[in-house]
Amino acid sequence: MNKLALADMHIHSIRSFDGHDSVEDICRAAVKAGIKTIAVTDHYECGSPESPDQCEPERIDLSVADVSAQIGKHGELEILRGVELGQPHCDMETADRILHANEYDFVLGSVHYVKNGGDLYWFNYKERDPYEVYDQYINEVLKTAADCEFDSLAHMTYPLRYMIYRDGAVMDTSRYTDIYDAILDAIIKRGKALEVNTKLIEDPGGFFTPDEPILRRYYEKGGRLITLGSDSHYASLIGTGITLAADALRECGFDSYFIYRNRQPVEIPLGE
Ligand SMILES: [Zn+2]
Ligand SMILES: [Zn+2]
Repeated sequence: MNKLALADMHIHSIRSFDGHDSVEDICRAAVKAGIKTIAVTDHYECGSPESPDQCEPERIDLSVADVSAQIGKHGELEILRGVELGQPHCDMETADRILHANEYDFVLGSVHYVKNGGDLYWFNYKERDPYEVYDQYINEVLKTAADCEFDSLAHMTYPLRYMIYRDGAVMDTSRYTDIYDAILDAIIKRGKALEVNTKLIEDPGGFFTPDEPILRRYYEKGGRLITLGSDSHYASLIGTGITLAADALRECGFDSYFIYRNRQPVEIPLGE
């Protein structure tokens, strides 16, 4: 196999309320792991998050400044300025303000909350109907996909991490085929990318979010813009699962993935 130019386009630093390491430590870990390109994508949560520190614009300014300070200090490592905008459809005015507050290379669009609820991470899916929550969640994802400004749609099936993987819910996700199609159609039409989030994949029973059937469907529909992200909140986890994602993508028919510089996609071959 040709050596894959590894890129991890979804990483959180201490500027995220749930991140643990500095951008400098992240860069050192990336070099050690043999990664060529990283994007630091700290959280900005739009809408009504549970705590005010999830929506402090200063955190994003500091994250971008941290990245700028490390560029050129880690040999060949390419360090990109990013942000992860949570549920931008809930407050498009604020999302727009954050988008214009800094010059980013890469913007992730994601949904972590449902209206009048908390972060989907905190729900106990042993005690509540996962379908009821997921129905609501996936409709919110469609709104972000159809209406919001971002480069790549992050972890499209986010709550399944907690519903199926953590809480053991048994779910028939085939009932979501139509809305998955609508989301994929929206991003393809709008020239947005789909992220393969690799956070769980090295754990026993883990899976990509979204998983291979959705990646295949995206490919069949003509979608080619794929980004790869570990969603690491610790420097030691950077790059986790990226080569496994590359293998899975090749099996689905893809021959490249993308990084973003100055909000423009740059194609990287997946090798053989
Ligand atoms: Zn996220
Ligand atoms: Zn994230």
